[in-house]
Amino acid sequence: MRAGLPTLPGVYALILFCPRERRIAVGALGVRRFPAGWYVYVGSACGPGGLRGRAGRHLGGGRGSPRWHIDFLRRAAAARELWCLPGAPARAEHRLATLFACSPEASVPVPRFGASDCRCRAHLFAFAAKPRPEPLAAHLAGLAGPGGGPLRVFSLPLRTADLAKAPEMVYSPRKRLGRRTGKR
Ligand SMILES: [Zn+2]
Repeated sequence: MRAGLPTLPGVYALILFCPRERRIAVGALGVRRFPAGWYVYVGSACGPGGLRGRAGRHLGGGRGSPRWHIDFLRRAAAARELWCLPGAPARAEHRLATLFACSPEASVPVPRFGASDCRCRAHLFAFAAKPRPEPLAAHLAGLAGPGGGPLRVFSLPLRTADLAKAPEMVYSPRKRLGRRTGKR
């Protein structure tokens, strides 16, 4: 299998860092305050190109006309990691958002962000410290369906052209499996 970000559809969490507080106009949500710190945005990638195609859009830095709420935040915050669940059904994005919402370290900076058309409180969560993927590993079976995972974690930033070479960690439901390099 070719190394790099999967072209399968699936569910993902984009980990962002915002170096200083910003006030950002977020479409219909209006101007909102985003404190400095870490953010997790949860989404699903069901279109052509799957997870790799969606990641390419996120790594583009919010250029072009914004379509989703995350496109506005990407102009102020750097993408640092991409956590992927390839093959997970689209509805798993809401389960993943609920898991983050239940995390004691997480807060919801902007209610309804990324959640205009679902019943989640938001699909964006703020963290004071960089969130770790390990706590999610215990929930992979419920997120990804039978077989449960693995959760694949890609280190960013990368230029879009480098997506096939992303350094990657793989998390099984029980333990970290090990490091993969991005050799083609
Ligand atoms: Zn939702």
